[in-house]
Amino acid sequence: MVEGKAKQSNGQDPVKKHQAGKLLRSWLYAQGLRFRIHRKDLPGKPDIVFTKYKTVIFVHGCFWHYHQDCREGRIPDTNSKFWEEKLVKNIQRDEKHQLALKELGWRVLVVWECEINKNLNSVEFQELIHYIKNN
Ligand SMILES: [Zn+2]
Repeated sequence: MVEGKAKQSNGQDPVKKHQAGKLLRSWLYAQGLRFRIHRKDLPGKPDIVFTKYKTVIFVHGCFWHYHQDCREGRIPDTNSKFWEEKLVKNIQRDEKHQLALKELGWRVLVVWECEINKNLNSVEFQELIHYIKNN
């Protein structure tokens, strides 16, 4: 049984991302989708890979991937220069991986940790399923 309960997050805890990813995978499985995880042979090792639909999902932690318009996606006040450089580098790497995947003919989706924790039964996630299956 999957519970889409929102949790407080400090944004920097990799365990949170792990939990969000697990939550999403259980939910996708319950929707009848089958997939592989962390395929090392693909650029950026996507979290979830739907080979049948040639679609991948990256589950992004809001802090590490600098989620815009999200309270977790911000530069910390202390050591801000260091963090800014680090997070910008993360974003650039994300973009590079996504571009490489698209060039290989994959469709690339990004799901944010905060969206998963908010509500997996929202319209947005229903649309996501629809999008994946209609390829
Ligand atoms: Zn977020």
